[in-house]
Amino acid sequence: MSGLTCPVCGCAAGHTFLRRERVPGTQNLLSRSQEAARAVAFGTLDMTACEECGFVWNASFDASRVRYDQDYENSQTSSPAFEEYVQGLIDDLIDEQEIRNHRIVEVGCGNGSFLRSLVTAAGVRNTGTGYDPCYRGNSPELDGRLEFRLEFLSGKPLHEPCDVVVSRHVIEHIPQPVEFLSAIRGSLSNSSEARVFIETPNVEWILRSRTYWDFFHEHCSIFTDASLTTACERVGLAVTDVRHVFGGQYLWLEATPAEGVEVTRNPGDISELAAAFAVAERDWLERWRRELELAAVEGPVAVWGAGAKGVTLVNLLDPETRLVQCVVDMNPLKQGGFIPGSGHSIVAPEELCNRGVHHLLLMNPNYREEIEDLLTRLEVAVNVINVTERADDPVLIS
Ligand SMILES: [Zn+2]
Repeated sequence: MSGLTCPVCGCAAGHTFLRRERVPGTQNLLSRSQEAARAVAFGTLDMTACEECGFVWNASFDASRVRYDQDYENSQTSSPAFEEYVQGLIDDLIDEQEIRNHRIVEVGCGNGSFLRSLVTAAGVRNTGTGYDPCYRGNSPELDGRLEFRLEFLSGKPLHEPCDVVVSRHVIEHIPQPVEFLSAIRGSLSNSSEARVFIETPNVEWILRSRTYWDFFHEHCSIFTDASLTTACERVGLAVTDVRHVFGGQYLWLEATPAEGVEVTRNPGDISELAAAFAVAERDWLERWRRELELAAVEGPVAVWGAGAKGVTLVNLLDPETRLVQCVVDMNPLKQGGFIPGSGHSIVAPEELCNRGVHHLLLMNPNYREEIEDLLTRLEVAVNVINVTERADDPVLIS
């Protein structure tokens, strides 16, 4: 059957399984007033799955609706669980992958903290160049061992050959991921021994775990193990390993430049997973809107986390700001701000007491322990509801 053309494998085998209208174009925009939050650019989700290679993309992605500028704030480093995870990646790269005395390039380095850790770790003697148009800091640093460039890779061979390319949580933002990988491959034409590491969300995990809030406008390209492999193979990167990390939520791929790489395609059971997800989302939304109505009668309801997931959840469940009173976030930069689209207030955890919050909705089970510890320390008594674990329960709020 003919469908939309897949940006990864080029087959006309894409079928749209999920449509959401009026979603915020950018999830991580800091708005300082409710009016500004509600006036953000909106976009449309038409999540589409390729029946040949398993790639999932938003066929209605509109880059003009996305803003990555000074108001873009997506650092997750305020969370101990995430910090521990990232430190584990750094330790693994240095100790297991033996990244020492290496020249490292990071594509989409954000604030540079990951690259800085790989360069400054004790005894590693690495050097690093970070590429990111959004970088806002000094350059060079550390007597020139670390530098930043306000651009992406051009695809031309690097001036100095490198040993490692890392790109974390970038490719899912790129509507033409093969071109992005091709630029990485082109930059390595004089670095034939280089190793490439890519980290990105795992769409199979999203579909299987029914994390509805993991589909949003900025993430226009979401991969399975196989489709990320296909994309790499198409540009001449031979994949040596794909692992599931962070509780299965992310893919961690390792590849190396090669000649004559065979391009494989394996859709797995993407079509079945996508179809089941779409049906489940409709049921879930209906049920949760009803449950929230009941919960709001008992007392104020809050949502934990003003990251992309929290923004999507409250825009899906409560676009009119009727049922959820506020969204809690540990990141001081976000506190006092407002959720793009819906306009919910973002507050510090301490505010839960002042606002008399009764129910707290939690999306990511990876953070449950640290959140419960924090609530105990703050002597906040709330009913914590994990929407992931309890998504299949018929009655969610007693
Ligand atoms: Zn495809």
